[in-house]
Amino acid sequence: MTVVHLKLDESVVSVCLAHEGCSQIGGPPADECDRRWIYGVGGAVYESIDGLASLQDRLHGVRQTILARTGIEDAPRMLGFIAHGWHATKDGPEFADPLLTELDRGASFKGHVRYVVSSVELSGPTKERVFDLLFVALLRVVMLRYRDFERIDIVFEADQSPRSRYAAILEQARPMVTVDVRVEPKGDSALAMADYLLYATLKYLARVMERCQSETCDVGHRPPTANEVSYSAAGAVELYGHLNGRDYALRMYKAFVRSMSSIIELPGVLGQVGGHE
Ligand SMILES: [Zn+2]
Ligand SMILES: [Zn+2]
Repeated sequence: MTVVHLKLDESVVSVCLAHEGCSQIGGPPADECDRRWIYGVGGAVYESIDGLASLQDRLHGVRQTILARTGIEDAPRMLGFIAHGWHATKDGPEFADPLLTELDRGASFKGHVRYVVSSVELSGPTKERVFDLLFVALLRVVMLRYRDFERIDIVFEADQSPRSRYAAILEQARPMVTVDVRVEPKGDSALAMADYLLYATLKYLARVMERCQSETCDVGHRPPTANEVSYSAAGAVELYGHLNGRDYALRMYKAFVRSMSSIIELPGVLGQVGGHE
């Protein structure tokens, strides 16, 4: 039985183009802010159950090491980590770094991201519709790529959405193979990879937009995929552009770049929901 496993998550990262490290991020923009919101969905594809299980095993080991470490037992994040595992937007370096270091050794998934950049903050049904359209676009490609498999096992990370939402997304994605769709809460490390690779991609994008001060920039802003990066003679990833080696967004993305298959901006999505481009 050839089954491909796909884990999915959605996220938004905002950035201010007027102020590097803008203190208003997380709150309402100040008058002189120039904010952008990057809405994205991410998928981690495991092409075999062995690939899925081996990564879960490795990450279980990393998780045990973090839990056993002394000195951070009182970190406010620890209780959440014990209950639900990794969560990219909440993890400080003491939780994220051991994970990234493990992923530097290689990972058994293929990452896909679809995103859109908006100059206005979206909310309610408009925001949900944007995520739905991004999911549909991502799923269509995955369905096509794995059409010779017997089944695609899809897991969305649970939020408050009704099941009907996922059924509608699937219908629009026009599956060509048998598809099994589930919703799972945070906790599984294989699912956490969708959250992390998406966050790493969106943070890289946000950081590059923040750094770039040129109207006529010829540096690519979209994070490169595995096929687009250069490798040193020692096999290390070399990324060129606006970010330097001390930038945490770059460090984070480097852990995922060799696993990334596709990252595509879909600006047309905003037109479909009546949002501003
Ligand atoms: Zn600002
Ligand atoms: Zn630039």
